[in-house]
Amino acid sequence: MTKQKPRISFEFFPPKTPEGKQKLLQETVPALNALGPEFFSVTYGAGGTTRDSTRGIVTSMREAGIDVAPHLSFGGDDEYAVGDLLDNYVNSGIKRLVALRGDMPSGMGASTQLVYANQLVEFVRQRCGDHFEIEVAAYPEIHPESDSYDSDIKFLKQKLDAGANSAITQYFYNVESYFYYLDRCADAGIDKPIYAGVMPITNFQNLARFSRNCGAEIPRWICRRMESYGNDQESVRKFGLEVVTQLCQTLIDSGAPGIHFYTMNQVEPTREIYNNLGLK
Ligand code: FAD
Repeated sequence: MTKQKPRISFEFFPPKTPEGKQKLLQETVPALNALGPEFFSVTYGAGGTTRDSTRGIVTSMREAGIDVAPHLSFGGDDEYAVGDLLDNYVNSGIKRLVALRGDMPSGMGASTQLVYANQLVEFVRQRCGDHFEIEVAAYPEIHPESDSYDSDIKFLKQKLDAGANSAITQYFYNVESYFYYLDRCADAGIDKPIYAGVMPITNFQNLARFSRNCGAEIPRWICRRMESYGNDQESVRKFGLEVVTQLCQTLIDSGAPGIHFYTMNQVEPTREIYNNLGLK
């Protein structure tokens, strides 16, 4: 029996400067597009802080014939603003969305009645019918604000039942947490794909800091090994590639439906991992 190729997607964030945007569109996107991903996605800054830049990038990519999904949250926006953005995406030929609750930047209050991501999914379905393929977020190591493991899965099901087509996970380095989570989701009656989010390791200090906030655990053995390299960036790079390639290989061998790479706008090391896996 031939194994099905996993679905591959690549995520970017909107660069802050015109030069960064130009580099992303003219160098990074073509280099990663050459690997043949199913689609790209572009994040949406907490509280809607990148509303225009996210839209600008996805529109340019769409005009270049690339399948791209804007992330969308209702953090700092009311329903009218989200509705306008959705209409704009429909008119631009965008066919996918990643729908999120999002996080608010500190000091900023929500300006909407919508509180959870399932309500955004309902809102999109009510306004746009089946136009969009909608992805939502999932947390194999459980969302940091969750009351319990089971309630987090219950709320994932609520988002999928509201009309999302599939989910993409927060990144993780404990592969068992992902497969255990898939089993518990199946027990809870979830039958839609849950794609694995994978974060290549580039800057370990930044990754460790970010992981503490988003509830992703970096196993002790990886931390200790990384710490032992100190400022030896080449060793950090090599070990990071080895760890993440092995993680992806296990995911593929064990039947994960697909991998979503958090590229951090870098061609390498995503391309190197991709090539190590022989996916091309
Ligand atoms: P929800 O699904 O609404 O869940 C949030 C919390 O509330 C969870 O603890 C959940 O268990 C709980 N909950 C859900 N529904 C209910 C309910 N009805 N009653 C009580 N509790 C409930 N952030 C950004 O700002 N921009 C991005 O572009 C972005 N992209 C992301 C992409 C992916 C693939 C992932 C995994 C995360 C992304 N995030 C992004 C982070 C995300 O916005 C945060 O993790 C946020 O805190 C939760 O968003 P959510 O959509 O999962 O929220």
